[in-house]
Amino acid sequence: MRKTGIMEWVLSAVYPRRCPVCHDIVQPKGELVCSACAGKIQPVGEPRCKKCSKPLQKEDQEYCADCSRRGHVFEEAVGILPYNKVMQESLLKCKYGGRREYLDYYGETMARAAGRYLSRWQPQALVPIPLHKSQLRLRGFNQSACLAHALGKKYGIPVYEHMLEKIRKTRSQKGLEHDQRKLNLKGVFSAGKDFRLLESVVLVDDVYTTGSTVDEAAGCLKKAGAGKVYVLTLCIGKGF
Ligand SMILES: [Zn+2]
Ligand SMILES: [Zn+2]
Repeated sequence: MRKTGIMEWVLSAVYPRRCPVCHDIVQPKGELVCSACAGKIQPVGEPRCKKCSKPLQKEDQEYCADCSRRGHVFEEAVGILPYNKVMQESLLKCKYGGRREYLDYYGETMARAAGRYLSRWQPQALVPIPLHKSQLRLRGFNQSACLAHALGKKYGIPVYEHMLEKIRKTRSQKGLEHDQRKLNLKGVFSAGKDFRLLESVVLVDDVYTTGSTVDEAAGCLKKAGAGKVYVLTLCIGKGF
């Protein structure tokens, strides 16, 4: 057994991996999710909004209510899993309850589904939505960066964690209307030390709800000279 193998074995004996769906110890051991829970998280199916990929109710609908009302700064966004009760709770436990290991499962799920979009967009870099340094210190990890690294590893695309910086703390976007969200986020990002002029980049985030965060980030990158900006998120809200 290699040294890291022994460490992993000791850690897994002391802190057994928890399941991102039921939050119990994963059964069978060695998996990222319980076999009984795996089917409870299924990728979003068609019909979906052609701009932001939100699930829609009717087959003949092209865009969700949001995208029919207003445009976006990014080219196209794709969210892999529905932002339902299971995923809301799972992400809460991951981000605020110290369940960092859930990101292994999220990253794998996202990477499995993302191939067709990445081959269409041909990005030169993956750019995670950054946290403010005080948030990062508190949480110890940036979930979006973890997801970006899972994608980067599978598809051989570089991850530039500091292409964007979050230069100001923001209050929660929950319960804010579109205009208030926009105002809350205005000027929150700046081009960071990893910034370079690229023709195509993909922003990576954990959740897409109204798209105001990724629009602000895409606007910042484009103002600095970036070409096309696409978006990949783990979860996406409903479009109706
Ligand atoms: Zn489970
Ligand atoms: Zn849409």
